[in-house]
Amino acid sequence: MSIASINPATGETLKTFESLTKAQIDEKLQRANDTFRVYRQTSFAERAALMTRAAEILEAEKQDLARLMTLEMGKPIKGAVGEAEKCAWVCRYYAETAQQHLADVLVETDAVKSYVKFQPIGPILAVMPWNFPFWQVFRFAAPALMAGNVGLLKHASNVPQCALAIEDIFRRAGFPAGAFQTLLVGSDTVEGILKDGRVVAATLTGSEPAGRSVAGIAGGEIKKTVMELGGSDPFIVMPSANFEEAVTTAVKARTINNGQSCIAAKRFIVAKEIYAEFEGRFVAEMKALAVGDPMDEGTEIGPLATGQILKDVDEQVKASVAAGAILLTGGKKLERAGSFYQPTVLANIPKDSPAYSEEVFGPVALLFSVDNIDEAIELANATTFGLGAAAWTNDESERNRFIDNLEAGCVFINGMVASDPRLPFGGIKNSGYGRELGEFGIREFVNIKTVWIK
Ligand code: NAP
Repeated sequence: MSIASINPATGETLKTFESLTKAQIDEKLQRANDTFRVYRQTSFAERAALMTRAAEILEAEKQDLARLMTLEMGKPIKGAVGEAEKCAWVCRYYAETAQQHLADVLVETDAVKSYVKFQPIGPILAVMPWNFPFWQVFRFAAPALMAGNVGLLKHASNVPQCALAIEDIFRRAGFPAGAFQTLLVGSDTVEGILKDGRVVAATLTGSEPAGRSVAGIAGGEIKKTVMELGGSDPFIVMPSANFEEAVTTAVKARTINNGQSCIAAKRFIVAKEIYAEFEGRFVAEMKALAVGDPMDEGTEIGPLATGQILKDVDEQVKASVAAGAILLTGGKKLERAGSFYQPTVLANIPKDSPAYSEEVFGPVALLFSVDNIDEAIELANATTFGLGAAAWTNDESERNRFIDNLEAGCVFINGMVASDPRLPFGGIKNSGYGRELGEFGIREFVNIKTVWIK
């Protein structure tokens, strides 16, 4: 099988790669295994020096790396530069904090001394998506490598050049060759790799079906997993909110990365008192977005990452309209080469339509009007997902109710949901389990060893 890198802005095939053979995969797993035995003995200071060097490379080469991301998956170039910078940030963050996050924790018991020690566990398989082709990988790799583990990347098949570029960055930063390896393979090989005794755990960021499959296989092997899956985040606006800021942020929160973000706000739940005004402003701002060549600095919306995603989004919108949703703007592919879709807004979305219950992975916003906060919370939670949630209010009691009652891995008040290396990130319900980033993230793939001495 070959793996193709296709420019979604033009449809042009940029490069193709042959998938690794069984023997080549075996060789890489063995190298990971052999490297781990030595690498795990390195000090935090040694690892931090290498991770800082990786950050420096990302910073120095951010323009070229950004162009590569944009070429392969179509994100607007400005966002791609920001993504490279954020990867440098997560490398530096863990270079500086890993030792403190993984320091022994003393616990008073009847022993003379008892404490908790955190130790690396071995080669970890990371199955990653294309939407933030660098960031998703670095937010796994930086803590994993700083903890003394080694990484094996099975990246999404449409971003092979990004996958190889990331491996190259770690290599040039001075990490041993087996510390981080890219496996250019299709998803059908994941089961075999996961079942191999040399792979001790897995993390997957991607869709719910992929998560179910990988978590199921790993469960059968009694191997730990972290699952970062889809979302249909609510964005609630109450009458006391700063309206201007809320509506402008709402458009950004829905359309960032061409609408292809797990934590994009997807359902806008607006108090009836301000709904009409919100709808008018939101639709006008969606219509005004600059759609076009993602290499152009002024572009706000580029193409969807693949022709299949374009087809899926178009079908979800069409089926929802057929079921009774009202199309306020958009709803069509653009008549040009590449997989471009118009920024789209739907209202009056029936419960039995795809848009109501499924994740729509493109620039498609869903608007809902609610009578009060109870209805807002009920609607926000009426989803199988539970990744992020945003609520806009300046009323303290409303704020506390949102924080306490929204079913999500994070709640942002008067802001849009975003990841930050310092804060844990992850979901509940079908959005997955486990956490990345912060102290919680680096503690996912370690042996939490109890030591008791008398
Ligand atoms: P995807 O189709 O699930 O692919 C993600 C990765 O999983 C790819 O490497 C893919 O490989 C692999 N994969 C797919 N099916 C598999 C299977 N049955 N067994 C093993 N591996 C499999 O998802 P995507 O379309 O790339 O990404 C979009 C999804 O990711 C959305 O649902 C989004 O919300 C979610 N996401 C979640 C987060 C988060 O942090 N929670 C972050 C970003 C994205 P191939 O490419 O070779 O098929």
